[in-house]
Amino acid sequence: MPLIGTAGHVDHGKSTLIAALTGRDPDRWAEEKERGLTIDLGFAWTHLGDTEVSFVDVPGHERFLKNMLAGIEPIDVALFVVAADEGWSAQSEEHLSVIDLLGISTGVIALTKVDRVDADLVELATLEVEERLTGTSLQGAQVVPVSALRGDGLDALRSALSGLVGDATPRPGPPTLWIDRSFSVAGAGTVVTGTLSGGSVAVGDDLIHLPTGDRTRIRTIQSHETDLTEVGPGRRVALGVPDLSRGTAVRGSVLTVSGVRTTATTLLVDLQSARGFEDATASRGAFHVHLGSGDWPATLRTIDVGTALVDLDTPIPVVVGDRCIIRDAGRRAVVAGGVVLHPFPERRRRAAAAAAERLRSALEGTPDDVADALLETAGVVELARLATASGGGVPQRSVVAGTLAATRERLEAATEQAVAAARAHHREHPLRDGIPKAELAAASGLPPEFVDAVINARPELEAIGATVAADGHRPGLSPSHEAAWHSVRDLLSEAGFSPPRATELISDGELIHVLTRRGTLVQVGEFLYLPDTLAEVEGVLRTLPTPFTVSEAKDALGISRKHAVPLMEWCDANGVTRRSGDGRAVRD
Ligand code: GDP
Ligand code: MG
Repeated sequence: MPLIGTAGHVDHGKSTLIAALTGRDPDRWAEEKERGLTIDLGFAWTHLGDTEVSFVDVPGHERFLKNMLAGIEPIDVALFVVAADEGWSAQSEEHLSVIDLLGISTGVIALTKVDRVDADLVELATLEVEERLTGTSLQGAQVVPVSALRGDGLDALRSALSGLVGDATPRPGPPTLWIDRSFSVAGAGTVVTGTLSGGSVAVGDDLIHLPTGDRTRIRTIQSHETDLTEVGPGRRVALGVPDLSRGTAVRGSVLTVSGVRTTATTLLVDLQSARGFEDATASRGAFHVHLGSGDWPATLRTIDVGTALVDLDTPIPVVVGDRCIIRDAGRRAVVAGGVVLHPFPERRRRAAAAAAERLRSALEGTPDDVADALLETAGVVELARLATASGGGVPQRSVVAGTLAATRERLEAATEQAVAAARAHHREHPLRDGIPKAELAAASGLPPEFVDAVINARPELEAIGATVAADGHRPGLSPSHEAAWHSVRDLLSEAGFSPPRATELISDGELIHVLTRRGTLVQVGEFLYLPDTLAEVEGVLRTLPTPFTVSEAKDALGISRKHAVPLMEWCDANGVTRRSGDGRAVRD
């Protein structure tokens, strides 16, 4: 359903006009009635022909601009109000600037209070308004003279709105409700109100609240004072969400489906200066970012013309493509409008500028395109993060491993590093099967999840158990290694249960490593044994009455404590014997 929003200077007749069009007074609060002034957002609805339309009425007073900004973003059609007797004002200019910066291009201008002026003045005022609109998103919009008091022009205004509402194309997306108010209803708990955009919600749907991340289920839906089980976008709605605490359901927080919106404290933003504020964001200012129904103090850092990094004190709910308004509280002026390009940008100027370029073009595509662009700027990103940042997108030009995605370029670079690392490993350790997988992963520069993708991407690489070989490498003993090994084997056979220390047998540590890894030799403390010899040790121990002591074992094997102690410890550690106190028994 289309949402029509008012804009224009305070007292120019916005609220009265809505009341005349809908029969409902959008000023809700006692204070608003007393002062005859809209302070916060007001709401109404009516039928234009067959179409039911929602209205959001905004305050026109400069002091309440913040409230105006909290309600204006989701509107489809602007109803811009200028009083014929007072004409254009500074506040008209500011509201037009907001509409222009938000890119709202469907609208009509109601030239109100025509009962107060003559026909010449109406014509003059019309010309002035048309001139003011030139160069903005509302250029060429129809100007309709009306009097809410006498009823002049109301039919013409209705039919103008009706035509625009038919033209307005809804912005599809996931259902999103920026909360502008919450209250407690006895027995029903927390109720939140806002303008639903994107898609429909139904009673029983599970939603996520951001920035808290709290989950909640919809228990009740009300829209236009009617209880519903389901409601579509473009309407004012009140959702009963009793699981949500009222303290967290504040203006500037959002309810949406899980996985389509993130939170961020730094945003890369495409900026467009407001007319008359060409350089405003480049200098210091007390900036506030207005996004959705919220506003937050922010620090701006210019990246280049039209691009800035926006730093916030707290995480705010965002998705790439969100529009925002930048206001300088010091100058009390709207100085720029923005589009969120990246919610986890690099801070370095060149990288940020490149990311901005990449995201600008992706914004014209789908969430999947945005996910691909975000991934390209970072190389490796969690899939869940890409989805929440892009509005539910899944990268299409990537390599996925577990919960992570990497760009193909990044994978290619990683495979280069991996091949180089495997080759280096073979040079240094020619006797080993290959580089341990974990080491290859570290050398590749990608997280360990990608190690199989890296290996599979290169025909040169081959996984052999927990190691990786390159170029068909097979470890082989050189003739001198073979000779050394044979003499060691003879020595060990002769030495029986009392071999010399390993270091006295073989000086080449690499050869010891390979032979023990292959199981041709067994390291027992400082000594090396042949596996057959250890089997013999076990045979001897089996002949002993249980439990036996180290001394008894030593005597039975005919060896000294120097050999007996490490041998018994090895037997314990390798499941040959079971130890209890000082006694041991051979396991069955
Ligand atoms: P808003 O601040 O733009 O919402 O303006 P309001 O709707 O509150 O109107 C401001 C004042 O202008 C009120 O006193 C209205 O009665 C008066 N007003 C609104 N529309 C008309 C109109 O068409 N003709 C005349 N004469 N007065 C109007
Ligand atoms: Mg008003």
